[in-house]
Amino acid sequence: MSVKHILAQKGRQIEVIGPDTKLAQAILHLASKRIGALLVIDAGNRIVGILSERDIVRALVAGANALDDHVRDHMTETVVTCSLETSVAEVMDMMTRGRFRHVPVMADNELAGIISIGDVVKHRLAEMESEKSAIIAYIAAG
Ligand code: AMP
Repeated sequence: MSVKHILAQKGRQIEVIGPDTKLAQAILHLASKRIGALLVIDAGNRIVGILSERDIVRALVAGANALDDHVRDHMTETVVTCSLETSVAEVMDMMTRGRFRHVPVMADNELAGIISIGDVVKHRLAEMESEKSAIIAYIAAG
């Protein structure tokens, strides 16, 4: 099963923010959308980073005035992405190895969506449930 199937169910909505936005604004954005990360894009729509709630926690620990800092000061600049054809298992592997919970999806050099660890777990649970039903049906038929 590929990332394409997850996006077909959850949609391709991506929340983005500019690198020069203040962290205070980023927090409001995360809270209002009830999400854990924002993709940082420049004026040309290019990905220049990702900012997650973890980055904000670290920033606040480093200095109480961090809310006035810019997103660019605390985002991760090297963003790991996947394609629509990447398998769900590969995305899980990327998240585990990279220790992050969000992976943007690219299609023809354009942003096509974002997969979170919550999406992956939901997908995996549904898959396990249908495997279980198939096994029960098989045993009952025997
Ligand atoms: P998260 O677990 O997604 O909240 O992120 C944990 C850390 O990894 C934060 O410093 C993020 O900026 C960073 N991060 C999140 N997603 C990615 C990604 N796809 N590629 C690289 N770094 C990421």
